[in-house]
Amino acid sequence: MLKPYAAAAQVDDTIRLNANEAPWNSSGDRYRRPLNRYPEIRPAGLKTALAGRYGCDADNLLVTRGSSEAIDLLIRVFCRAGQDNIVTTSPTFSMYRHYARIQGAELCEVETLRDEDFAISASSVLEACDESTRLIFLCSPNNPTGTLLSRDTLREVLESRRNTSAVVVDEAYLEFAGEPSVIELLAQYENLIVLRTLSKALAFAGARCGSVIGPRDVIDLIDAVQAPYALATPVVECVENALQTRSLAESDRWVEKVIDERERLNRKLGEYPYVKRIWPSAANFFLMQVEDATALMQQSKDDNVLLRYFGGSLADCVRITVGTRGENERLLQTFARFAEA
Ligand code: PMP
Repeated sequence: MLKPYAAAAQVDDTIRLNANEAPWNSSGDRYRRPLNRYPEIRPAGLKTALAGRYGCDADNLLVTRGSSEAIDLLIRVFCRAGQDNIVTTSPTFSMYRHYARIQGAELCEVETLRDEDFAISASSVLEACDESTRLIFLCSPNNPTGTLLSRDTLREVLESRRNTSAVVVDEAYLEFAGEPSVIELLAQYENLIVLRTLSKALAFAGARCGSVIGPRDVIDLIDAVQAPYALATPVVECVENALQTRSLAESDRWVEKVIDERERLNRKLGEYPYVKRIWPSAANFFLMQVEDATALMQQSKDDNVLLRYFGGSLADCVRITVGTRGENERLLQTFARFAEA
C-alpha cells in the first residue's frame, strides 16, 4: 500500500534545520504564521473544525483544495486507466467527466428524467453499472438542474453496489436546500463518500477549500495521494476566518436572502411568455427553458450580465445564478428588454 510522503518533522520551540527553509521572515509576509516555514503537512486544526461543522469524525475527513481536488483524487485512487469506469447522471457538473478523461477512466452517463424535474432513477443508474464501475457520482442539489437527490434513490444505489462501487454524493450546494446532509448515513454504508465545499454558501471560493468525508480507509488512501503541504498557510488562515461564528452567521443570513431572491426571480421571470419553464431548485441557481436561448444569451451579454448556457440536451435552457438584489434587478431589466426585442 502507498505510504504518505515522509516530510520533515515540525516541532514547536526547536531550532529547525531539517527542511531547507529560509531562516528569516520576509517583509512581504503579513500572515499570522510565518511564511518562511512550510505549512502543516495536513492542517489538523482545520480538519477538526470542518469535521465539527459537518458532524463527522476528523479521521473521516480530508481537507482538499476545493472539492474539485477531491473529485480528481477519488478518480485517480479508484480508477485504473483503460480498465475502470465511473457512472454519472446527465446533465450534471462537468468536472466528473473532465477528471475521468484525464485519468483514462471510462464514463457512463445516465440521463435524468427531465419531465420529472430531472429526478434520478435508481434502476437506470444501476443498469449503467458493471463490474468495472468504481465510482458513482450523484450531485445533490444537482448542478445545473437544482434537483435534490431522494434518500430512497440513494439508499437503493448504495445497497445494490455495496462492496462493488463507491457512491460519491456531491453536496456543494446543500446549505441552500435546507435539508440534512447524507453524512448521517456514513455509519450505515461503507461505500458512501460525501463532498462539501466552502466555495458556495460560505462565500470562500477564492480560498479553494473543500472536504471529502468517507470511510477511514478511503480517507487514508487519498491522503497518501494528495500533495504534501497541499493547503497553503494563507489559505489555512483564511479558512479559519471563514469558520468563525460571525462569518458563519453571516453566511446563514445570506443563504436566506439568496433563497428569497431565487423565489422572487422565479415568480417575476415566470411571467414572460418566452420563459417556458423554470425548474424548482434547491440551490443558489436555477435552470429555465426559454424560447430562444442563444438570443437571450446574446441579449444578456450585450447588457453585461453573464448567464450560463450548456447546449446539448439543454440547448433550450439557461442557468442563472442568484446574485445580490441589485444584480438581480439588472437581470430583470435584461429579461424586460428581451421581451421588447
Ligand atoms: N461540485 C459542484 C456540483 C460544483 O458545482 C462545483 C463548482 N462549481 C464544485 C463541486 C467544485 O467546487 P470547489 O472546487 O470550488 O469546491
